[in-house]
Amino acid sequence: MNIIEIIEKKRDGQLLSAEEIKYFVDDYVAGKIPDYQMAALLMAIYLNGMTFEESAWLTRAMLNSGQRIDLQAIPGVKVDKHSTGGVGDKVSLVLAPLMAVLEVPVPMISGRSLGHSGGTLDKLEAIPGFNTNLSAEEFIQEIKDIGVALIGQTDTIVPADKKIYALRDSIATVNSIPLITASIMSKKIAEGANGLVLDVKVGNGAFFQTESEAIELATRLIAIGKRSNLPTVALLTAMNQPLGWAVGTWLETREAIAALQGNAPPDLMMVTCALGALMLLLAKKTKTIPEGLERCQQAIASGKAFDKFLEIVKWQGGDTKVILQPETYPRARYSLTIRSLKDGYIHSIDALRIGRISMRLGAGRSKKEEQIDYTSGIVLRKKQCEALAAGETLAVAYSNDKSLLSQAKDEIGRAFQISQKPPPPEKLILKMIDAEGMQDWNY
Ligand code: URA
Repeated sequence: MNIIEIIEKKRDGQLLSAEEIKYFVDDYVAGKIPDYQMAALLMAIYLNGMTFEESAWLTRAMLNSGQRIDLQAIPGVKVDKHSTGGVGDKVSLVLAPLMAVLEVPVPMISGRSLGHSGGTLDKLEAIPGFNTNLSAEEFIQEIKDIGVALIGQTDTIVPADKKIYALRDSIATVNSIPLITASIMSKKIAEGANGLVLDVKVGNGAFFQTESEAIELATRLIAIGKRSNLPTVALLTAMNQPLGWAVGTWLETREAIAALQGNAPPDLMMVTCALGALMLLLAKKTKTIPEGLERCQQAIASGKAFDKFLEIVKWQGGDTKVILQPETYPRARYSLTIRSLKDGYIHSIDALRIGRISMRLGAGRSKKEEQIDYTSGIVLRKKQCEALAAGETLAVAYSNDKSLLSQAKDEIGRAFQISQKPPPPEKLILKMIDAEGMQDWNY
């Protein structure tokens, strides 16, 4: 088999066979195919797509690039959650400990920041000492000990996703249905979960802007789950403004800590509890969605989910002092306040623009090997539909590079559309989709 012929085939819109897909995944992981050839192939896949069968083969090849974790020795239905990517989406940091408190074991393999969207791994690694690179044995032991573990792809667990994910981030091939499907499902099948809840984001700050594309992505993810014996349910949630207030690694971790202490922004709490209610159903811990929503709210209010987060940080080598006293965390050297020029209402907040600016301020990577500046990002002070007067603060931006802040100032202001009348409120949770079909979310 020859990589140039495979690139040509995909470039010309032809189908790849299971053997060809396995060949390029294995040889890329083994270092026999260079980044530039893989980049060309990924772009061809991005432009010409893949059939369902091709994406199933890609998922399998990526899964088989590493070991598959066996969690059968751990009692109970193990359930995980994954987001397709959004701005300000720190749900996993709140939801994983919350589910562990409600006795649902959570094996979670997450990703890094991708494109304009933040990644759970980077937010966890913003905690000094936090190790997301556990071995399979350590991952299993942590779930046995405390009911939850949060790691990334490693050189032995879905190494293909580790390499391909980092490459996609730097070659603008993120928002591709087959590539996202294989990336997410290879991780989720490898980690040994028995159930999966997906947060499929739709809107301006998501990788897909239209509901029909998001439904197509959800449907493919669910179908791959079904074929792999991993019952999968998806919620379609709106991503037309950032979730919560904070955008940027540590800023988001800090907001997640506050949420675990009962001070969550309402939208973050709503999405977290909705996903949690579905995880409880899959784990057979509850019989109805309203019961699950209530149990999630109670577990946050009791402080037990916060205590569980502390346990996770301790187990994975992180510094618990910054969790207990987040104000001791170093601050970005510079900050900039962006104020409204007029009275009115927040009509919309361009999540994509906020995500991109936050990345440019230091919270993301434009090259594979770039280091993240954990303290940079943007904290919103106003959200959609809120009234405001001229001179009021819209957002505060943080960076260790003063020139980046001054360059970003006008663009952050432009992310806020202000109208004279309040806009109609938007639904946050749009649909629930599973292998049986789709229904509205009316809880
Ligand atoms: N999350 C992933 O794990 N992979 C993607 O490609 C997108 C979101």
